[in-house]
Amino acid sequence: MVKRAVIVGAGIAGLAAALRLHRIGWEPVLVERAPARRTGGYVVAFFGRGYDAAERMGVLPALRERHSGPVGMTYLKPDGRHRYTVPSRTVSALLGERGLTLMRGDIEAALYEQVDGRVPIRFGTTLTAVRQHPGGVHIELDDGATIDADLLVGADGLHSKVRELVFGPEEGFRRDLGHMIAATTLDHQPPGAPEHAFTTVSRIGHLFTIANLGPGRTAAFFTWGTPDPAAELAKDPRQALAEVFHDIPWTAAGLIASLPAGGLYYDSVSQIVSDRWSEGRVVLLGDAAWCVTLFAGYGSSLAVAGAESLGTFLESRPDDVPAALRAWEADLRPEAEKRQALGRRNSGTHSPASRLDLLKRDLPLRLAALPPVTRLLGRRLRIHG
Ligand SMILES: Cc1cc2nc3c(=O)[nH]c(=O)nc-3n(C[C@H](O)[C@H](O)[C@H](O)COP(=O)(O)OP(=O)(O)OC[C@H]3O[C@@H](n4cnc5c(N)ncnc54)[C@H](O)[C@@H]3O)c2cc1C
Repeated sequence: MVKRAVIVGAGIAGLAAALRLHRIGWEPVLVERAPARRTGGYVVAFFGRGYDAAERMGVLPALRERHSGPVGMTYLKPDGRHRYTVPSRTVSALLGERGLTLMRGDIEAALYEQVDGRVPIRFGTTLTAVRQHPGGVHIELDDGATIDADLLVGADGLHSKVRELVFGPEEGFRRDLGHMIAATTLDHQPPGAPEHAFTTVSRIGHLFTIANLGPGRTAAFFTWGTPDPAAELAKDPRQALAEVFHDIPWTAAGLIASLPAGGLYYDSVSQIVSDRWSEGRVVLLGDAAWCVTLFAGYGSSLAVAGAESLGTFLESRPDDVPAALRAWEADLRPEAEKRQALGRRNSGTHSPASRLDLLKRDLPLRLAALPPVTRLLGRRLRIHG
């Protein structure tokens, strides 16, 4: 009999899982809270296991089409004066031949193209209750529908509802890294920010980047250190940004004033640390299970890799879903924990907490074009193994 899966969340993890389960002959249904598919997002580096998995899943050509190609990184002083540039060829060497620079929405779009028409997506819907029984899992949705399935996948991100309903409240799993993030796409290129480049202003505790991947593909992101993320989250995002970045004359102040109220990703930088990702026939995937954070630069890659290998393990044990989920976790967990450790280490690199941290961040970047330093940085960022 054909097996059914309900996947909550149509982000990178959920779409990749839907595609993979469809390919192994399951009948997945996606349940997405947003009223329509999201586009844009921030800039992500995509490589490693995620790249390999995308290749096996046949989505690599669609991703390569969207790849920005070489993009340089320029660091400025808050008043806009040049500090140093990491040339695009060095950034490319760092990322390697099997690495891509994309918008998060590019990965979702490439996956969606494969899923569209094959997997039903219930937009504007969430789940309200889950009950497991020996033969399956019973799911109730907020539109009144109920679904009986063989598997429930919680791919609903950092603040997962599936995790809350099945594993417990978020507070038991969330580890704040003492930073905030705000990110958005822009409909214009700010004056002075070159095309096809990352332009960053950073000072102790604060970082602000404009990233352009080509015409009409611009994103801005801000990170800053804080001892109290909950207090920051209680503020209006634009007010919080203005408090921290108002005195950075290069673009930041003007940009914040022009940001639309909606459409801004605004959250604390938090990891999810859980000693198990499945409970019977319910499994967490992507940020819902192991959020490594932007500081690890690997969340999208791991979401695709995790979804692909989930399909492989389910295919190998079709009659024992809980055992397949445990075997999958045992295989993937070491990589996720390694990336989480990297994310924690890198928090000082993004918004250095002291002059010494700033120096430690800048020195290797200033020397990054030297081949031995390129190799060292690649290893430090775990891009090359
Ligand atoms: C600024 C920034 C930069 C980053 N840079 C990188 C990078 O360079 N490289 C990299 O690999 N990763 C990067 N990441 C991380 C990466 O974007 C995430 O790890 C990845 O997108 C996680 O995908 P996901 O599908 O697990 O979760 P999400 O993208 O959070 O998707 C979850 C989906 O579930 C939906 N949803 C949520 N709640 C519910 C609910 N209750 N019911 C139904 N649906 C729900 C949401 O609407 C969403 O569609 C970055 C992240 C940020 C914020």
